[in-house]
Formats: sequence, C-alpha cells, structure tokens
Amino acid sequence: MSMRCRNCGDTLQEFLRVVDDGEQAYVAEHKPRHTRLGSYYRCGREGCRRYQRLGDHNDGGSFPEPDE
Ligand SMILES: [Zn+2]
Repeated sequence: MSMRCRNCGDTLQEFLRVVDDGEQAYVAEHKPRHTRLGSYYRCGREGCRRYQRLGDHNDGGSFPEPDE
C-alpha cells in the first residue's frame, strides 16, 4: 500500500496495517470518530512513526517515541 508520507519528505512509502496493540490504542484514542481501525496504516520506513488513513494522507499523525 503506497502512500505519500509527510514525515518522509512527502515521498511515496509503503504503508502497513496497524497491528501493534499499543499503536491501535493510540489511533483509537486520537481518531475517535473513525472506529474502523483497519482504515489506518502506518509508514513502513524504518524509524518513521507516521500513521494515516487510507485514501486521505492528510488524516493522520505520528505515534509517540517508544519509551526506552
Ligand atoms: Zn514515513
């Protein structure tokens, strides 16, 4: 699933389904109007924490940095 990623300089990146429990919870918390979590994908580039909705790359955000 290729979409533009603004966190990657607005380049086309491969996006993956959000499968991590913590990330799913984060999306549900920040996008309460969109209960279909399956419509959100995350950037697959290593180190990028961008997630966005399928079909609307402006509807998204960034996951927080993981706790070390
Ligand atoms: Zn990205």
